[in-house]
Amino acid sequence: MEDVCTCWVCFELFEDPITLHCGHSFCLECASKVYKKNPCCPFCRRPFELPLPPVNKEIVQLVVDYVKSQEVKNERMEESAPPQESDFFQLPDEVLIDILSFLPPRDIGKSSRVCRDFQRLADDSWLWRDICQNLFPFCSVDKYGKNWKWCYVARSQLKYGWDEGKASQFEVTTFRGHTNYVNCFQLYRNNIVSGSADHKLKIWKVDNAEASSTLVGHNGVVNCLNFNEVKIVSGASDSTVRIWDTKTGIPIKSIAHTGAVHTLQFDDSKIISGGDGRTILVSDVRDGSTTLRLDGHNSSVFKLTFDNNNVISGGQDGIKVWDLRTGNLLRNLSSAAPSTFQVAGNQAIVGYNDGQLQIIDVATAAVSSFNGPRHYARINDVQTDGKNVATAAADGTIKYWDLTHKNYFTHWKNTNLRSIRSSLATISWSVLLQTIH
Ligand SMILES: [Zn+2]
Ligand SMILES: [Zn+2]
Repeated sequence: MEDVCTCWVCFELFEDPITLHCGHSFCLECASKVYKKNPCCPFCRRPFELPLPPVNKEIVQLVVDYVKSQEVKNERMEESAPPQESDFFQLPDEVLIDILSFLPPRDIGKSSRVCRDFQRLADDSWLWRDICQNLFPFCSVDKYGKNWKWCYVARSQLKYGWDEGKASQFEVTTFRGHTNYVNCFQLYRNNIVSGSADHKLKIWKVDNAEASSTLVGHNGVVNCLNFNEVKIVSGASDSTVRIWDTKTGIPIKSIAHTGAVHTLQFDDSKIISGGDGRTILVSDVRDGSTTLRLDGHNSSVFKLTFDNNNVISGGQDGIKVWDLRTGNLLRNLSSAAPSTFQVAGNQAIVGYNDGQLQIIDVATAAVSSFNGPRHYARINDVQTDGKNVATAAADGTIKYWDLTHKNYFTHWKNTNLRSIRSSLATISWSVLLQTIH
């Protein structure tokens, strides 16, 4: 419970939590700070714009419930265990730790070899917590048994690997439970939600690889999903979008489409979804009612994304830009069917089935391309933070591009990764990009 109430920027309980368009939540103040440094989501690196969305009341409620449950727990603890007398030190630890904090991390590590007292201080979790917070815009300490020092060590190794283009050691964990192939999944903080051809969704904890709940209700292959702390939204071949409670897995609402649903995205007020029904629906996230219909695609829609002003959708008949307030079609960006795309501000980075990669200006539809070696097979995934672009293709390679100068930067050099074929490369990449900063 605590993990869904904690902001992964400041590692405190959420204060005025807001949910960005990518679905990831942070304290309002943390998000503003992040914006000033680098305006992209600390979790998935998707760029975001001002104004920031309003406070997400549902998450506020989660925090309130959590704090209440902790108060009850603490009262019980106090009744059962009398307070212990604390140890006595000549100089308060806080002072000593504060002095240590002026040293570079490497020297703090060395100082722990001086004597046992130093070792105790140099292992102090708060000290490493501050170091981690300063060096890495966000990290999950839960992965490292809540030990900030281990977290620092692991993250600096990752950073080294990233700088050098080398993957560090990785472990493979298998999540077993679905009875047919897994068609989509999303990783967010310590949770994974997966959707399968067995018509079910499952919620998993990353650390123990066990499904904590199974969501039953769809009557077709689950094609797409999105989730945050409070809701899971899924789309399936049964022509419905379903809304579920993340905590309990209980179905809340269902939205009817006229064909299989292939793509969706939601924030704290609306769900936007599209598929074989051609019409893109904008629905109210609370009651599932349709508030806007975007009509204009003449074929299936299989990818969409939105920001403060626009919806951008891709189908067999190309890419279209819509006005999110009026539902009007603003312009066609391309008449060719993309295999995938990602939008960063005014630029759409578009991948195609033949391996081509384009940059299309969202406002003018002007097309440009990157200099460098191209992909020779379907581009499965494009990720961007507004400065760099990563592409994963069915040719088994992952390429990294500089968006500012439209240049090829590097490719992922790890042989293990390169040998992983096609769609698996996609998955590995999106996970990697979320782990490395
Ligand atoms: Zn925060
Ligand atoms: Zn995000």
